[in-house]
Amino acid sequence: MGKKQLKAVDNITFDIYEGETLGLVGESGCGKSTIGRTILNLYQATDGQVIYKGRNLQENLSTKDRKYYQEKMQMIFQDPYSSLDPRMTVLDIVSEGLKIHRPDMDKKEMSDRVYDLLELVGLNKNHAKRYPHEFSGGQRQRIGIARSLAVNPEFIIADEPIAALDVSIQAQVVNLLKELQRDRGLTYLFIAHDLSMVKYISDRVAVMYLGKMVELTTSEELYEDPLHPYTKALLSAVPIPDPKIEQQRERIILTGDIPSPIDPPSGCSFRTRCPMAKEICAEIVPEWKEVKKDHYVACHLY
Ligand code: SF4
Ligand code: MG
Repeated sequence: MGKKQLKAVDNITFDIYEGETLGLVGESGCGKSTIGRTILNLYQATDGQVIYKGRNLQENLSTKDRKYYQEKMQMIFQDPYSSLDPRMTVLDIVSEGLKIHRPDMDKKEMSDRVYDLLELVGLNKNHAKRYPHEFSGGQRQRIGIARSLAVNPEFIIADEPIAALDVSIQAQVVNLLKELQRDRGLTYLFIAHDLSMVKYISDRVAVMYLGKMVELTTSEELYEDPLHPYTKALLSAVPIPDPKIEQQRERIILTGDIPSPIDPPSGCSFRTRCPMAKEICAEIVPEWKEVKKDHYVACHLY
């Protein structure tokens, strides 16, 4: 089929297509990172499967195959402060994966490769001898990106890669990720807790609430015609640069805490916070339906 297919299941199946960015959005604790880590096998799924280019990764893979998929699928972590070992130089950090996956590389080849990677992410050779604390947040995230690219992955899970950065730096990192995607044909799962930057990087966006996917469609469609009340609330929290529009628009403020995923509400799990909730919402779990072309939602309003 030529299409890359990854499935993560919580009553929901989704695909990620080769070369695209799928945004995965929801408040913290909704299960986004779990999906990311399950895909990479950092968490063992209790149920469900992850299919990568036709291969079920939850099966017992040989050590060689396991290594192969580890190479092809990499992760960029949320917090550039804690994900880089403070005692390691940038050279050691970026070459970590090479030491595992390219044991035949000599020292010179390895450092040359690291220098190239640093250039690629907007840093340079002179940064290689330095330690993480000598860099700004944005630069540290660039180091994390260089590390993830070291073994030529095809698919990268970026778990809230800009959440810890200043707004001014966020756009730079997103632009870098876009450039790298274009030049290297990468596929991304871009995890975020709000929708502000997701539009610029994602082809499609999936919205999650309490361990379930509630809406999935293309990026344009999601912003033009959001259907799920939770998506609408998330969108109303995204600042609009034009103050006239910003003042006039309707804000949906969600009240109440996120319920415990261990003991979710009956029926629709969003109903305790949903401004549109009806009686049926407490009784019946809304079905996941395609209500418009390529636009999926789980809500009784549709
Ligand atoms: Fe709100 Fe009901 Fe839709 Fe759930 S199913 S999002 S409670 S309207
Ligand atoms: Mg998380």
